[in-house]
Amino acid sequence: MNLYGRTSLAEFLGDWVVYRNLIPADRDLPTLDDLRAEIGLGPKGIPRKSESNYARVIVRLLRAAQTQRGLASPLRRLLFVGDTRLLDATAFGNICIAGGWPGLAFIGSENGKPPAVEIIPHESGQSLYLANRWPALADFAAYAASHGFAVDEATMVIVDIDKTALGARGRNGQVIDAARVQAVEDTVAALLGSAYDAGAFRAAYDRLNQPEFHPFTADNQDYLAYVCLMLGSGLYRLESVVEAVRGGQLATFDAFIAGVDARRADLPPALAEIHAEIYANVQRGDPTPFKPFRRNEYQRTIACFGNLDDDAPLETRLNEEILVTQEVRAAALGWRRQGALLFGLSDKPDEAATPTPELAAQGYLPIHRALTHAVGE
Ligand SMILES: [Mg+2]
Repeated sequence: MNLYGRTSLAEFLGDWVVYRNLIPADRDLPTLDDLRAEIGLGPKGIPRKSESNYARVIVRLLRAAQTQRGLASPLRRLLFVGDTRLLDATAFGNICIAGGWPGLAFIGSENGKPPAVEIIPHESGQSLYLANRWPALADFAAYAASHGFAVDEATMVIVDIDKTALGARGRNGQVIDAARVQAVEDTVAALLGSAYDAGAFRAAYDRLNQPEFHPFTADNQDYLAYVCLMLGSGLYRLESVVEAVRGGQLATFDAFIAGVDARRADLPPALAEIHAEIYANVQRGDPTPFKPFRRNEYQRTIACFGNLDDDAPLETRLNEEILVTQEVRAAALGWRRQGALLFGLSDKPDEAATPTPELAAQGYLPIHRALTHAVGE
């Protein structure tokens, strides 16, 4: 593994990037709200990555980007680079169907086992190339070229950002998770003040973050942070919540927050205030209702970009800095030179990926523009 200097995702993506709210960083592209009527979406709600409406929005953005770069030729084929078989492959398949395109997806996740590649062909032309090493991306590029995926101006390449282009899964992704957990802790600690107990927080977070509790938390980190906050306030005990979830008396997060709302008079004023804000956001269908947490996540995340000196040991760097995945960067730059249209997708909430106006005025950047080191083989 080697260090390849400092860069940002903008080197190969520019501002052709969307975070979870589906508002492109390039303000000349249409936003989700511009596309709602055309796609038949209601006035509220943001399609999630696994949904077909998400794919329809992305197809529309890709076509707008092709027009913006002055190319009248239609897009004909799709390459996709991601890190999760379930979510990325689903989004990839939906985008191929919505665009009427053949596609080939590389799904990378390093696991330390001997190098292995599995190719899953799909009769309607949406094939998967699964690899357990990021350097296999170079082989994927060769495979694509020899299997009908000539890369030219009619080719799009969608690059997943989270744990693919940044913080490669199995190599550097733990830094992204650690920044998020630290942000939950910062938020809960600040709101609880002297009542905060770090050991109790960790116990609650680690326990309720387990897959067993995903039906309860919807695997939503905002919900989990809120539950940890309410446990820290003393309103509920961890063991009672665990038992109620296991026993089926407490099935959903909605039931939990409604229960807190019924007892809101028991909360200290600062917690009653944040509860009211989160409860209102949940009622509006906001999937990231805990705004102070997500703003802290941005701060903790951006603090891990380019934070180590050029001569830091590689092992330290992989554990403490969020890095550009050199293999993804090299492949993307190669495809771009061949004329492909590159577009980045991130499932990170916008509040966790982009600065507030106040921070932007101080020079803070969205994560696709923040400089950090590139590392890879
Ligand atoms: Mg990802």
